[in-house]
Amino acid sequence: MSVGELLLRKMLRMSGGTLIWTVLPLVPFVVAEQLRPVGARPAWRDYLSNLTISLSTSVLMVPFGLAAGLLAQQLRAHLPWAPFELSFDTIARVPVAGPALQVLAMVAVPLFLHDLWFYWAHRLSHAVPFLWEFHKLHHSDAHMNCSTFARDQFIQAIWTAFFPILTLGLLVDLDLRQAGRAALYSNMFFVPWSMFCHSAIRVSLPGLDRLLVTPQVHRLHHSAEPAHQNTNFADVLPLFDRLFGTYRAPRPGEFPATGLGGGPGPGTAWVAQWGAFGDLIRRRRRRCTP
Ligand SMILES: [Zn+2]
Ligand SMILES: [Zn+2]
Repeated sequence: MSVGELLLRKMLRMSGGTLIWTVLPLVPFVVAEQLRPVGARPAWRDYLSNLTISLSTSVLMVPFGLAAGLLAQQLRAHLPWAPFELSFDTIARVPVAGPALQVLAMVAVPLFLHDLWFYWAHRLSHAVPFLWEFHKLHHSDAHMNCSTFARDQFIQAIWTAFFPILTLGLLVDLDLRQAGRAALYSNMFFVPWSMFCHSAIRVSLPGLDRLLVTPQVHRLHHSAEPAHQNTNFADVLPLFDRLFGTYRAPRPGEFPATGLGGGPGPGTAWVAQWGAFGDLIRRRRRRCTP
C-alpha cells in the first residue's frame, strides 16, 4: 500500500472516529445546556462551527501522528537507555478486584501522564507568543459550550497530543494491545469529562473543584476578565495547578464571560486552521517595519 493510500485510509477512519467520539457523547451536554444555560442558550451554529473545526483538525493531524509513531520507532533503536517496561497485567492478577483495578489503572495512569505534560505545554502556550498564536483559537469562543473542547488548531493539537505520544514511546515500553486498551479506557472518561468542563451548564460542584477540573474551574481559564488570566491550566487534575501555584477556586455563582473580546472568533475551518499563520506573518512584518 502506498503512503498516499495509507494516509487516505487513516484520514477516513479518523473522520469516522471523530464523528462517533465527538458528536454522540455531546448529546446529553447539549440538552443540559439548553435546559440550564449559563447565559444565552448556545446556538446550533456555535456547535456546528466547533465540530467542523474539530473534524478538520483530526484530518490534518493524521500525517503528523503517523510521523510521530514512525519517528519513535526509529529513535528507539538508537536510545542510550532501555525504555521503562510497563505492564497492566500484574494488576489484573490481584484476587477478586484485579480486573476492575486494571481498568482503573488504565484510566488513571494515561490521565496522570497526559495531564502532567498538558499542564506545562498549555502554560507555555500562554507564555510564548509563537505558541499562543496557535492556542488562541481555543480561547476565541465567546459562546463557550460543550463542543469547545475540540476547538483546537491542528498545530496546537500536535503540540499537546502527538508530542507526548512520541516522548512516551521513547520512555515507556508497553505492548501495543495494552496501550490501545489504555488509550480507549482513558478516552472513555476523558472525552466526556472535557465536554462537561467546557459546557455552559450552570452547575456548581464546590466539593469536586479541587479534585477534578469542573465547568466552573475551566470557565475561569477561558474567562475574558484580566483577573482570571493564567489560571487553571490543567485538563483534568487541578493537582498540577495547585502544585505549581496557578490554581484559582471559583467563587459561588461565578460564571464569567468567555472569549478574547472583539467578536465571536473564527467560525470556519479554513480561517481557524490557517488564520494563525497569517497573524504570525503580520506580527513579524510589524516587528521588522522601522
Ligand atoms: Zn488556554
Ligand atoms: Zn478549554
